[in-house]
Amino acid sequence: MDKTKIDWCDSTWNPVTGCLHGCEYCYARGIANRFGFHASEPDINERVLLEMPMSAGKKVPYPFDFQPTFHRYRLDEYRNKRGRNIFVCSMADLFGEWVPDTWIEEVFETCKKSPQHNYLFLTKNPGRYEKLLNCYMPPNMWFGWSQTGPVGADFSFTTHHSVQTFVSMEPLLSPFTEFHIRGVDWVIIGAETGRRKDKVVPKREWIEDIVGQCRKEDIPVFMKSSLMNIWGEQLIQEFPKRLIHEN
Ligand code: SF4
Repeated sequence: MDKTKIDWCDSTWNPVTGCLHGCEYCYARGIANRFGFHASEPDINERVLLEMPMSAGKKVPYPFDFQPTFHRYRLDEYRNKRGRNIFVCSMADLFGEWVPDTWIEEVFETCKKSPQHNYLFLTKNPGRYEKLLNCYMPPNMWFGWSQTGPVGADFSFTTHHSVQTFVSMEPLLSPFTEFHIRGVDWVIIGAETGRRKDKVVPKREWIEDIVGQCRKEDIPVFMKSSLMNIWGEQLIQEFPKRLIHEN
């Protein structure tokens, strides 16, 4: 079970780790490589772990570094815990084209067994949701996608399904002009962190535009703490009603 510094969820849960999208600004790759084992790279179907590997008496949480890996032993981590908002697979893209359907199905089945939680999925490949969401999904499962600018917007997804949706505009790499956000249930905005050479610092006007769109559509907005210096005043940190737990 992972405590988290991610401010829009209570906990993270990583039954699958690793990702092949290759984003330059990826923080997860650095973590996985730092705590990895730099072992051989077996076929993806063999990267299924029934227990956390050990080496010289120490746990090895990423034995295949950032190669997609199914940590089946983590499936039940939240089974009997009090209800919370869980970001599923903060160290992966669970819906990358390379992920076997069976891994996703096992994660979904596990979620359904612990309905006290809200589950927040996030992908850069929302097209895969289209293929997977033909069956009923309970309202505590939230389907989000990351988007760094208006190009490649796939908001049409929201018009075809009755599931809860959110968009994570992070890191904000360009203004979101001429886009339509209707039908989304939540918007998260964040800036790039770290010290990457070509790091993009968003302008305040870009953020104002997004907030304006959300206000028009009555969509809650959550600004990540990475916007603090850019926004320059108290951050707007709203949650949809369904995501708020009583503590
Ligand atoms: S999609 Fe996310 S996890 Fe995958 S490389 Fe990009 S930033 Fe990293």
